[in-house]
Amino acid sequence: MNAELNETDCSEALHRVFEYLDGELEPAERAKIAAHLAHCAACLQQYDLDTMVKALVKRSCAQEAAPAHLRGMIVQQITSIEVRYLD
Ligand SMILES: [Zn+2]
Repeated sequence: MNAELNETDCSEALHRVFEYLDGELEPAERAKIAAHLAHCAACLQQYDLDTMVKALVKRSCAQEAAPAHLRGMIVQQITSIEVRYLD
């Protein structure tokens, strides 16, 4: 345990990971989330999944629709992780 982990808990980090990815956070907030991600494997995993979904959405916009089953699999994975860590 250290000060950084106490400042930003997992539920806050997970809620803000979307804003973090979208670049909507203030620099100080970004730093807090980045510090949390650096120390927390669970949140980093969530961040990786979100990055994957964003890349997939981007690709599907540039070309054709993403395969529905692939999208469904990723969304399902995210949901199960959120249930596990937010509960
Ligand atoms: Zn965390």
